[in-house]
Amino acid sequence: MFYTTIFAIVLIIVILAKYLYKPVERCPECNAPRESDHPICPCGYVFEFPDDDDPFEYGDPEDSAKDSP
Ligand SMILES: [Zn+2]
Repeated sequence: MFYTTIFAIVLIIVILAKYLYKPVERCPECNAPRESDHPICPCGYVFEFPDDDDPFEYGDPEDSAKDSP
């Protein structure tokens, strides 16, 4: 009973955190949040590709060697 309540509270907190957390990229120039599909900020700053989950990441030479034919 006690652990069920703890589990429920933790679950609610996690769901709320996921719901409230929006990974919005902000412009380093004017600090405006990036719009969904716009790669260019209204101030003219061009956003880079996202760092996380990006297949074009060139950090590990072995990974790129495996991908290239
Ligand atoms: Zn901007």
